[in-house]
Amino acid sequence: ATPTAVMVATGKGASQGVLIKGGHALEKAHKVKATIFDKTGTLTVGKPSVVQTKIFSKITLLEMCDFAAAAEANSEHPLSRAIVDYAKALHQQYGLSNNDFSTLETKDFEVHTGAGVSTKIGTRSVLVGNKKLMHLFHIPIQHEIEEFVSDAEQLARTCVLVAIDGKICGAFAISDPLKPEAGLVVSFLKEMGILSIMVTGDNWATARAIAREVGIEMVFAEIDPAGKAAKIKELQKKGMSVAMVGDGINDSPALAAADVGLAIGAGTDVAIEAADIVLMRSNLGDVITAIDLSRKTLDRIR
Ligand code: ADP
Ligand code: MG
Repeated sequence: ATPTAVMVATGKGASQGVLIKGGHALEKAHKVKATIFDKTGTLTVGKPSVVQTKIFSKITLLEMCDFAAAAEANSEHPLSRAIVDYAKALHQQYGLSNNDFSTLETKDFEVHTGAGVSTKIGTRSVLVGNKKLMHLFHIPIQHEIEEFVSDAEQLARTCVLVAIDGKICGAFAISDPLKPEAGLVVSFLKEMGILSIMVTGDNWATARAIAREVGIEMVFAEIDPAGKAAKIKELQKKGMSVAMVGDGINDSPALAAADVGLAIGAGTDVAIEAADIVLMRSNLGDVITAIDLSRKTLDRIR
């Protein structure tokens, strides 16, 4: 494209909250054959909340929540916030002070990427996370617990397990609703001849349930940040030009690896930095706006 055409297109984009970082991004967006979406915070609202709890041992719901929230209070992960918020609400319901659990002192706190968190509270060792985390610490998972997890996952919920001193005592089922425009954007892309793919660190069952809901046929789940970038390189090796849409710190290697990285404006600074295009309105419909703009700009020249 000519410098003038690029200027006109970037100006038009900017007026719609689509920030295109230069002509290169515009030309790449024109050739996109597949769009890879991150799940959490990109296809979904990114504000998960606890919709169900379950106790598996002789512990009260309040105790289980206090331990879990004290551990998760050290983390910024959306799932952590959901658990802390739930514990706060429970305290309110019992007429207790809002955040008593924060007086539970944590020690040796650790984040296990794509799995959960571990810490010590007093003399107790506490784990909060998925089955992968439990396997990592050699914690047995009883049949009853397996069943609770798979039931939750069938409903597109993420299940977070809580283990105290090596025994799973309870679980949270957490739901993060789809963005209202997500399904429409996927079907629009299909009409434009662009394949939609989902990648996520979340488990396969939840990922498949969400994908079904949104109309995405190709899914890669249980993938770490480096894995997301590797998936993109795999597709590129097959000759496919790919766009990546993401919001999190975890997505930045993939945003950088993609032919076109699109960051959700409400996402992390790291993602915005790594992207070629920033969607300031945080509306997925602007993925279409960006590709449309590049097609119109480049087709005019041809
Ligand atoms: P995504 O790619 O969907 O944004 P992440 O890679 O952040 O997901 O996390 C993947 C999975 O790891 C989560 O679905 C959850 O099961 C587990 N997990 C990660 N962080 C935490 C946490 N702080 N507490 C509990 N579980 C966690
Ligand atoms: Mg995300």
